Amino acid sequence: MDGEVVLSTQALAKHYGRVRAVDGIDLEVRRGEVYGFLGRNGAGKTTTIRMLLGLIRPTAGAVRVFGRPIGHNQEWLRRVGFLVESATAYPNLTVRENLDLQRRLTGAPVSSVAEWIGRLGLGPYADRRAGRLSLGNKQRLSLARALLHAPEVLILDEPANALDPAGIVEVRELLRGLAAEGVTVFMSSHILAEVAHLADRIGIVHAGRLLEEAPRDVLASRAREYVRDAFTQSEREEALLTADLERYFLARTSAEVAR
Ligand code: ATP
Repeated sequence: MDGEVVLSTQALAKHYGRVRAVDGIDLEVRRGEVYGFLGRNGAGKTTTIRMLLGLIRPTAGAVRVFGRPIGHNQEWLRRVGFLVESATAYPNLTVRENLDLQRRLTGAPVSSVAEWIGRLGLGPYADRRAGRLSLGNKQRLSLARALLHAPEVLILDEPANALDPAGIVEVRELLRGLAAEGVTVFMSSHILAEVAHLADRIGIVHAGRLLEEAPRDVLASRAREYVRDAFTQSEREEALLTADLERYFLARTSAEVAR
């Protein structure tokens, strides 16, 4: 994909004693793309994201956002929205109050609070204290906080965390819509399906290194070939059955909600 590189790392590394949490990663994320950063637990995703945001200092290497090294100038932060690890909000403030505070901190317009309450389906909970929300709704609130100031780039660590299957689909639709509006999304996940549904390009991270990086369709055809060679017919049918059941479950439960 052509286009301006908005987020990149150069030989990025973070070592904790002998643990090489991130061990020399070169990433390039271009404007308007959805980049899926896929890896198992402990692969180094969160550590990479923390360095992308300047929350921890790399042992070696560098991070560039909008073509400039992140450093003392924090101007780039205004153009970036992020969600790192678990959901964050002030537990004693309501959903609306949390968003209103965020709006004032970021200089977002007054209308953005109602807009994001609506877009994330938080209407019924707007006056509930954040501490009393379900995990899934806390995650929605965190996403709303990340999006309130209309960032150009979104950096999301496991955005589907704690969401039920319907919530996962909602967030997927939301991110797809944002991408269509030109927002660049960098998201980490340990769930392949989540990334496969959304990402234009996928990077597989393992033991702190980028094992493979390819457009989704290229990776999908590699995967098909691998599965054809490595699995039996009945194992392949089993996997398809699970996918069909998931679709059926989603269709049934969304019909119940609509009733
Ligand atoms: P998960 O999906 O479980 O969140 P992850 O891909 O985000 O995993 P990281 O949290 O980045 O993985 O961790 C990568 C490795 O670095 C792990 O082995 C972890 O134990 C180690 N690690 C992370 N932070 C620290 C720290 N502060 N001190 C020591 N080791 C750490």
